[in-house]
Amino acid sequence: MLWTMMLDCLRRGGGGRGGLCCTGFFLTLTFALATQLDHRGYQGQPLHPTRNERPKLLLVSFDGFRWDYVDRVPTLNFHALMDEGSKVMQVENTYITKTFPDHYTLVTGLHAETHGIVGNEMYDPDLNASFSMEGPSAYDPRWWAAAEPLWVTNQKQGGRSGGVMWPGSDVKIGGLYPSRYLPYNASVSFERRVETMVAWLAEEEGPRERPGLGGVDFGVLYWEEPDESGHNLGPESSLMDVVIANIDDKLGFLRNELRKKGLYERVNLIVTSDHGMTQLSKDKVIELDQYLDRELYTWVDKSPVVGILPGEGKLEEVFGALVDVNPNMVVYKKEQIPERLHYRHNGRIMPIILEAKEGWTITQNRTMAPHMLGNHGYDNSLPSMHPVFVARGPAFPPP
Ligand SMILES: [Zn+2]
Repeated sequence: MLWTMMLDCLRRGGGGRGGLCCTGFFLTLTFALATQLDHRGYQGQPLHPTRNERPKLLLVSFDGFRWDYVDRVPTLNFHALMDEGSKVMQVENTYITKTFPDHYTLVTGLHAETHGIVGNEMYDPDLNASFSMEGPSAYDPRWWAAAEPLWVTNQKQGGRSGGVMWPGSDVKIGGLYPSRYLPYNASVSFERRVETMVAWLAEEEGPRERPGLGGVDFGVLYWEEPDESGHNLGPESSLMDVVIANIDDKLGFLRNELRKKGLYERVNLIVTSDHGMTQLSKDKVIELDQYLDRELYTWVDKSPVVGILPGEGKLEEVFGALVDVNPNMVVYKKEQIPERLHYRHNGRIMPIILEAKEGWTITQNRTMAPHMLGNHGYDNSLPSMHPVFVARGPAFPPP
């Protein structure tokens, strides 16, 4: 059974050794679990025999929550979930370790080269269009069309899905929006997001032909922290302790809201993230203007993995000008990108990519470098890039 494999793997990861597993693998299996349990719990025990409803699954992402934050300060709520359920020590996420690629991996089980969201900023030569996670292009279904997110799969299987601010969950993908969703709005508080989602989970499941009504059995919920603070403060700052403690309080709020609605024992809850965070230094900056005329190329995505589109016929010139300039910047022609990164087979991956070593920043000119003390996006084999993963509920019995 798929879910038995997943639980075994989760237990291995929770045994104090560094279990490394792909997030998408877990979530795809978890979704299979949630839809295949057929109203029965682990080891065949009825979950709630008086109710005729599908098992419920809530997937929560705290953006940029590195795997080891849970042991940095007291995080009683995270540890309660681990004690009541399961955890993975470190999850190996997908290259590039950025917000949009990894959130789409979480709900598709696919690497970025396959699901097509290869960066937070992209250029598609076939569409002759650019994508920015902060612009209207993020709502263009064509960028998302190569894969099917779990909320769509769930609806196609007769379920009802809810999306609260998760990247892509307010986009019409495969012709469908989530049954219920909130359009992205960063100013909506975490508490309001949780109350909305918990209300949907608590409602009776509505008629399929009226998607705006009734409850959901699968929900995805997103919060911007601790990513934002990690960028601003740097993960090594002691000020991050307060931020992490605050996230744990927020998780406590979610647990309480589920309890208040009688859902805590009925919902499978997964709390995870898209990536970790590492410390930057103003002394670790590589300036491309020192080596290359800007007229020769177009800069597509940001540091630490920069997509470079050389001008017509300029590929060799651009590559030659950059390849040996700094040992802390790896320069790949697209076909040279290591297979283990699964980041080659997509037209949205540029002909040349520049990859900074951990903690380094690539910019055109130092004056343009964002004033950040923390960043992510680096090689997904680095422990600092790995997110947290904890789960509890009927499908995740304690070890
Ligand atoms: Zn992120």
